[in-house]
Amino acid sequence: MHVSNAPLFLSFPHDQSTGKTTRVEGQMPESLGKYDPSLRDICFIEGIGLCSNIFIFADGESISLVDTGSGTEPNAVGPQMERLGLEIEAVTRVVITHGHMDHIGGLPEICEHCSPEIFVHQNDADDLKSIGIKSVVYMEDGDDIRLGRRELRVIHSPGHTEGSVCLHDKEIILTGDTAFPGGYFGRTDLPSGDWRKLVDSLDKLSRLEVRVMLPGHGEPLLSEASSHLKLARKTVELVRY
Ligand SMILES: [Zn+2]
Repeated sequence: MHVSNAPLFLSFPHDQSTGKTTRVEGQMPESLGKYDPSLRDICFIEGIGLCSNIFIFADGESISLVDTGSGTEPNAVGPQMERLGLEIEAVTRVVITHGHMDHIGGLPEICEHCSPEIFVHQNDADDLKSIGIKSVVYMEDGDDIRLGRRELRVIHSPGHTEGSVCLHDKEIILTGDTAFPGGYFGRTDLPSGDWRKLVDSLDKLSRLEVRVMLPGHGEPLLSEASSHLKLARKTVELVRY
C-alpha cells in the first residue's frame, strides 16, 4: 500500500519542560501553529506509552480538550498543561472520542480542579460511570460542538467501540482510535468492538475532504488526511479480526 506524497508527521520531544510557564492570555505558547499557522488554536500533548494523545483547543477565553490520556504518571493532565503555559482550572469542555481507559483516565484529575461539560456518545457512557464520572452530555452523529474557535461536526464511528466518534470541520479531523495516519485503523477485538461496523465507519470517513488528521495515538498528520482515510477504508478489508 502506498500513499502519494510523503506525509508530514510531527515529532515532538517528550520532555517539553522549559522551566517557563505563562498564564493563558489569549494565546497558545506551544501550539501546532508553529508548524501550520491555521492550527494555532490547537495544542498537542502526545501520549507516552499506551496513553492517548490530548488535543487542546483554546480561544483565549476557554479551553476545551479532546481526550484526557490515562491520567497516570507521566501522563497526568495538569502538569503537562502547565508545561504548555495552560491551566487545568480553565478547562470548560472535554470531548471523549471513546470510553477506553487510556482516553478517559485523566477525567477524575480534571474534575478535581474544575467542572467542565463532558461530551461522550451514549454507547460508551458506562465507561465514564465506572470511574465515577456521572454528569455527562450525550453527543450524537451530526451534532456540532464548539471547541475554542472551531465548530466541529460529530461523526458516530462505531467499530473500535460502540460509542466511538470522530469530529471534523473543513480542515481537521480528530479520529480517536478509529483511524490513524498511514491507513491504519483501530482494533475491533476488545469489548463492543465490531469489524463490520468499523468498515462502515471508515467508509463514512473516506468520503470526507480534510487535510489534517489528529489521531488518538501517534503524531498528527498535517497534509493529505483524506487520502490516508481512503487507504484505511481499503486496508480494513484485508485485516479482519
Ligand atoms: Zn481505544
